[in-house]
Order: sequence, then C-alpha cells, then structure tokens
Amino acid sequence: MTTAETTVFETLESNVRGYCRSWPTVFETARGSWLTDETGKDFLDFFAGAGTLNYGHNNPVLKRPLIDYLATDGITHGLDMSTVAKRRLLETIRDVLLAPRDLDYKVQFPGPTGANAVEAALKLARKITGRSTILNFTNAFHGMTLGALSVTGNAAKRAGAGVPLVHAMPMPYDGYLDEAEDLTWMRRALDDSSSGLDKPAAVIVETVQGEGGVNVARAQWLRHLAELCSARGILLIVDDVQMGCGRTGPFFSFEIAGITPDIVTLSKSISGYGLPMALVLMRRELDQWAPGEHNGTFRGNNAAFITAEVALRHYWSDDALELATAAKGERIHRHLTALTEVYDGTSTRGRGLVHGLVFEDASQATKVCRVAFEDGLLVETSGSNDEVVKLLPPLTVTDDEITHGLGILTRAVEIVRDAH
Ligand code: PMP
Repeated sequence: MTTAETTVFETLESNVRGYCRSWPTVFETARGSWLTDETGKDFLDFFAGAGTLNYGHNNPVLKRPLIDYLATDGITHGLDMSTVAKRRLLETIRDVLLAPRDLDYKVQFPGPTGANAVEAALKLARKITGRSTILNFTNAFHGMTLGALSVTGNAAKRAGAGVPLVHAMPMPYDGYLDEAEDLTWMRRALDDSSSGLDKPAAVIVETVQGEGGVNVARAQWLRHLAELCSARGILLIVDDVQMGCGRTGPFFSFEIAGITPDIVTLSKSISGYGLPMALVLMRRELDQWAPGEHNGTFRGNNAAFITAEVALRHYWSDDALELATAAKGERIHRHLTALTEVYDGTSTRGRGLVHGLVFEDASQATKVCRVAFEDGLLVETSGSNDEVVKLLPPLTVTDDEITHGLGILTRAVEIVRDAH
C-alpha cells in the first residue's frame, strides 16, 4: 500500500475523533518506541499513548505472560470476583509498591479509566467528610466525566458537559501567579470565614500537569499543600494517572516531595501494556466504602492484571528504571535548554521523562508537531492554548532513539522558525 486509506474514518467515525487528525495516517503495528503505518512508514513515538505506554509498545517482557495466560484460558473478565491473577497483583502491589515505601494503603479497582478513578476518589472524599466542595487547580486535567470535568480547567472541555459544573473551586497552581508562594490565596480563603469558600472535602492535584502544559509543581509547594490540607482536615488526592508509574522518575510522582497523599489515583501505565485498568489507593482508615457502592462492569480486566503484575515485578523491584529515567530526562532537558537559547520566544520545563517546549507564539507548537509527524516523530501539544510541545517518550526509550527524536524535533523547530 502506498497511501493510507482513511475514508471510513472520515465518513463513519464521529467528529469527536481527535488524535487521528493530528496524525493523519493509519497505524498497523508497533514495537517498543516505534509505530508503523500501513504504508510501511515508521514513526518514533514520543507520546506513548498519552503516558499509557511507559514500557513501550508490545513489550516482550509483558507480552509472553499475557499470551500464556490467554492460551491457558485464564479468566479475562472477572467483575470484581477474586481471581488468581488479581491475588497475584494485589500481593505484588503490597510487596513491590507499598511495603518498601511504608504506605499503608487499601486498593480499590474502579472502572478501567483515569476519569473513573477520579470519580471514585471524589465520591469517597465527599462521603468521608460529609462536605461537597473540592479544591482543584488552574490548568488541571482530571478527565471527561462530569465529576472529573468539574475539577478540570480547560473551558472547551468544560463546555462539553452541557450542565453546570458545580461543587469545585479552582485555586492557583504553583507558578500560576508571579508569587513565591502560590498557596497564599488558598490559605487565606480557608482561614477567613467571610471568604465565601465552603470548607472543602478534598484538594485534587497533579504534581506535574500533563495536559495543562507540563506545569511542574515544586517539591516544597507540594509539601506546603500537604501540610495545609492536613492542618485543616482536608483530604489530599494526588491524581497520578499520567505522572505515576515512573513518568517523573520514582513510581509515584509525589515521592520527590516526601508526602503521603490520603488518596491516589492511577491508570494509564498501571497495566503496563496499554490494557484498560485503573486503581484508587486510599489510606487504610479512609476505606469507608459500603460493598458495591462504586460499582462497574469492567473492574476486573484480568488480562491487565497479568501485565500489571509482571510490569511491577520486572521494572520496580529495584531502582534501575528510576535512575535511567532521571538520566534520560536530564539529557532531553539539556537539549531543549540549548534549543531555547537559540530560538527566542521559547522556554522549557519538565521532570523525569515529561518535558515541554513552550512557544510564546502558540501556533508554532502545532506547526512543529505537524512537521515532526511528516518526518516520522509523534509529539503532541498541551497547555491552555496548545502552546507546549509535550515530549512523553516511553521510559524504555533507548539513547539512540532519544538522539533520533531530538534530531527530528530540532529540525522541525528550525523549519517552522525559518518559515516564520
Ligand atoms: N487524570 C489525569 C492527570 C490525566 O492526564 C487523564 C488523561 N489524560 C485523566 C485523569 C483521565 O484519564 P482517562 O482518559 O483514562 O479517563
């Protein structure tokens, strides 16, 4: 095939489709950091399923046990029944993730999306505290269902709700105001009985805002936030759907701040293989759910449990991946910093293996992504005006692949700048 056949997508698939517009081809196979389209063209993937493929596409370490499990008729759909696959996963979460970090969390299996984990976390916080308000942050992104949208910043996404989005109050994220201490307003409003702010049930925060433009909260800000929540009896929810599973280095993105959130949401890369799965972790005493109170048909994706368990054991039994992520991230950071020194009107920010190249002229970010695509690199924009080119390679990306991807990105920036 010499050109990709896209007619049926354009005539039958809903207008709601998105990524296929940015990357107008038809993908067929994928391995590691690479996708191949049906014409045989290869694309280096610096998007990794929006953070779902931290261990790359079709990782053989995970694929073999998955194939073996399916071949022996292991349970595929299990509601929330007890299964051997789920027992192994829970034991591995306990032994590999929680015990070494001294985290006494219970584990909830919500529906298999990030948004469903967020919904569960918000419901639980409201149930425990008997309060309804949730504090969220400017530029936050937590998902597309109504509760998750109510704590999401983006106006276009919010407009899609079609009903008022209520019981949430945005606060300035770290760096949003040009102040050293961006919690000033929140602290003041909480302590002033005439501020108009109802006492909240919880605060929900991303340690790095992925969709919101790769905004990085300082460890110290996160610590102050955790202290403030604890002192005022407000639950702290860290949404680690995109930044968890090692994206920023350590397994949990909040580890760098030395804080222990009350509730944590995980999804995207938790299954390791791109299979749908999500988790809510909550401090043991906060597990106040009644049986079946947050139900759902697809909470028992046992195939995902198989790959999740292998991924945790293989990649998180030591600190090799964390150290490699830091080293690769540092390399990308150095390269992007050098780029920003050459090209006016650009800046960069990031942590671990999530980095943003920020353009003062937002239209240039979209153009850079388009040129990069033509040249065989998948990168997407983020930020309130799509002004940030977001780099989110698999954590398993090789040094050669980083060199290749940064080469394409640099050429794309040059081309867009020269055309300007
Ligand atoms: N929270 C965060 C931080 C996310 O980045 C996302 C997805 N981009 C979600 C929640 C929603 O996850 P999902 O799309 O699986 O519902």
